[in-house]
Order: sequence, then structure tokens, then C-alpha cells
Amino acid sequence: MLLLAEALVYVASMIGLLHLRSRLGLGVFVAALGVMHFIETYLAAVFYVQLPFGVISPGSAVFFSGKLMMILLLYVKEDAATVRQPIYGLLAGNFLTVALSLLLRRHETVSIVPGRFADIAFIDEMGWLMVWGTTLLYFDSLIIILLYEKLGRWFRRFVTIRFLICGVVVLTFDQLGFYAALRFVNGAPAEVFWGGWMAKMLAAPFYAIAIGFYLNASRHTFLAISNRPLGDIFNDLTFRERYEDLLSRSGHDTLTGALDRGRFEAEGQRIMRDAVAQSAPVSLMIIDVDRFKSVNDRFGHMEGDRVLQKLAETVKTKLQPEDRLFRYGGEEFVVLCPGLPYAGVQSRAEDIRIAVSDGVKTPNGYPVTASIGVSSTLADGAGIQELLAQADIRLYAAKNTGRNRVVGR
Ligand code: GH3
Ligand code: MG
Ligand code: MG
Repeated sequence: MLLLAEALVYVASMIGLLHLRSRLGLGVFVAALGVMHFIETYLAAVFYVQLPFGVISPGSAVFFSGKLMMILLLYVKEDAATVRQPIYGLLAGNFLTVALSLLLRRHETVSIVPGRFADIAFIDEMGWLMVWGTTLLYFDSLIIILLYEKLGRWFRRFVTIRFLICGVVVLTFDQLGFYAALRFVNGAPAEVFWGGWMAKMLAAPFYAIAIGFYLNASRHTFLAISNRPLGDIFNDLTFRERYEDLLSRSGHDTLTGALDRGRFEAEGQRIMRDAVAQSAPVSLMIIDVDRFKSVNDRFGHMEGDRVLQKLAETVKTKLQPEDRLFRYGGEEFVVLCPGLPYAGVQSRAEDIRIAVSDGVKTPNGYPVTASIGVSSTLADGAGIQELLAQADIRLYAAKNTGRNRVVGR
């Protein structure tokens, strides 16, 4: 009962922190995960309880098994580039702990509370166990994520089963590795292996069911599960991805695939610099959906999102390869057109406006329209901010004169 209560507290709290990551920041979840690592290793080394089927440690049955499942859950909710941060962080933190304790041991310590002396000897024992445990955890984490992806090819939608199989396989692998170290360090008897293994085998379905329940309740779309080759995921997990791959994937808005606002500053500056060097013009458009709030209000946010996707798709069909589309705000897009003079941007914006009102529809078939403000060097200024400000003024003019129109100089 106690173990069950511990696992429940663990899984509910950690899923809670993960779920709130958009509000709290992911650091809260990751720090909590890291802090528990120390106690977990300590428990796994010396804290055992007798169960009918053997001797087990809550350290590995509850904390460690839970942590591995949380790492996998973090991967499922985020991606390889995110989950590798705690994986490497745990590795670094543990190696540091052990390295620093080697120095700490050289101190002559004094007792300030009568009768209490620092006993850092347990770190000696624990230290190496932690290094070993963390190294194992590192491989466990990589294996569990790759296995999860591999299983996705067979039963994509059965997320609980995938978590279960991953848990069973990787925790068994881990138990073999960790027990070997326990036996070496503590001379742990064989029943510790079997007891620990049984406990992990009970933990795996418990966590798989809890996580499956959460993913279903949070209406997780399994679309996020990629069809990327396992080698690519492995490269991401181990910081071996090509820099260009990283650049081309991050910096994209996940809903529409447009570049995100973070990329606007950098790309904008670069395009302006190149234009000056080549004495070429640069034009800019701001596209804002008309009465988009009412689409959300009438059909819901999901439909609103679908409309934004369709809109971005439609805009892209009218762009040239050198043009850049950014999702600048919620339903505001900016297009940068290097080399395009003012007359050109005016007609390209007009093409976009028509394509949107012809091609983007609300669920009941009404056209969705957009208003567009345009600006261009040199008439409107030579800097990206000046172009943006001018186009913005014109966008408002378009809104004020009836919407569904392009306004320029
Ligand atoms: P206007 O013609 O004056 O632009 O009217 P509008 O309703 O489009 O007004 P405004 O630009 O102020 O409204 C933007 C709305 O877009 C408000 C917000 O709820 C919605 N929105 C912003 N981002 C998203 C998103 O990612 N998805 C969905 N579904 N809606 C979003
Ligand atoms: Mg707006
Ligand atoms: Mg709008």
C-alpha cells in the first residue's frame, strides 16, 4: 500500500509539473526530476523492504522506474532536442557530484553540533554507484525513446502498450546492469535482483497505465509521433544532428510551418544587409485575417487553427523561393520579399488576397478574407523596423476601409 501511495504521489506530481510546463516553464519539471535522483540512488543502495516475492527498494521501484517513464513522457510531449537536456544534465550533475566529493574528502572537518560528525564515506560508495547508475540511465533513456519510436511503427495508437513494453524491456536491462554494480559494491544477494526486477515489472504497468490515462485525457494527438528515421532521432538525442537541420527545424511555428517570430529579427537583418550589398530592393507585407475572432467564437479554436493552417498553405503557393513567410503573431503573418520592388509587392499581395478569399473557408463555406499592408525600400525606409511600421499603418488603413484589401503607398 505504501509503495502504491508513493508511486501515485510521484506520478501525479510529476505529470502535473509537466502538464503545467507552458505556464511554469519546463525548468520546474526538470529540476524536480534531477533533485530526486540523489535520494533515489541512496535508497536503491541501502533502503530495502520485504515483500512476499522478495526484497525491493522504493528507490528503484518507484523513483527510478518513474523517472525513466517521465523522460519518455517528456520526449512524447516535446521532442528529442528537449529531452536530451535532462538526460545530459543528469549525467553531468552526477559526475560532478562524484568529482567534487573527491575534493571534499580532503577537508579536515570540525563538529559544530556535539556528537555529530560529517560522514562522507557513504558518498564513496554511493558515488561510484551514482556514476554507474547514471551511465546506465543515459543508455536506458536513449534505448527507451528509440524503442518507443520503433514500436510506433507497429501499434501507433496504443500508447499505453508502447509505454508498457518500453518499461518492461528497459527496466529489465537496467536491473541487470544495476544489480551487477550492487553485487560488486555491496555484495547484494541474488534475491535483491529478483525482488527488484519484480518490483520494476509491477511499476512498469502502473506507470504505463497512469501515463496512458493522462495522454488520453489531455487529448494528446499522436500526430506528433514522427516518421523520422531512428538514426535521425538518435543523432538528435546525442547532439549529433547537423547544425543546419537544427536551424531548419527549430524556428518554425508548429501550427503553420511558417518561420516563427524569433527568426524574423535575424532573417530580416540578413535580408536587408544582402539587399544593401546588391543595391536590390526589399518589400514586406503584413497579412492579418479579417474578423478572425468570430471564426474562433463561432466554430471553436480548433477550427480557427485549421483556418490558419490553410491560410499559411495558401499564402505559400503565391510566394517565390526567395520569399520568407513568418508567423508574426496569432493570426498575423509577415512576408519578406528580397529583390522585389514596390510595384511587384503590390501585385503579389493582391494575388495572395484573392487566393485566400477563394481558397480559405469557414466550416459552413463562407470565405475567410485577409487584409494586407505593404511597404518597400527605399521609399518607406531602409531598415526592417521602418518597413514593418509602414506596412502596419497601411494594414490598419485596410481594416478601416472595409477589410479584404491591399493597401500600399
Ligand atoms: P480584425 O479584422 O480587426 O483583424 O478582426 P480580428 O477578429 O481578426 O481581430 P484580432 O486581430 O484582434 O483578433 C485576433 C484573434 O486571433 C484573437 C485570438 O483569439 C485569435 N488567435 C490568435 N492566435 C490564435 C491561434 O493560434 N489559434 C486560434 N484559433 N486563434 C488565435
Ligand atoms: Mg490581429
Ligand atoms: Mg485579425
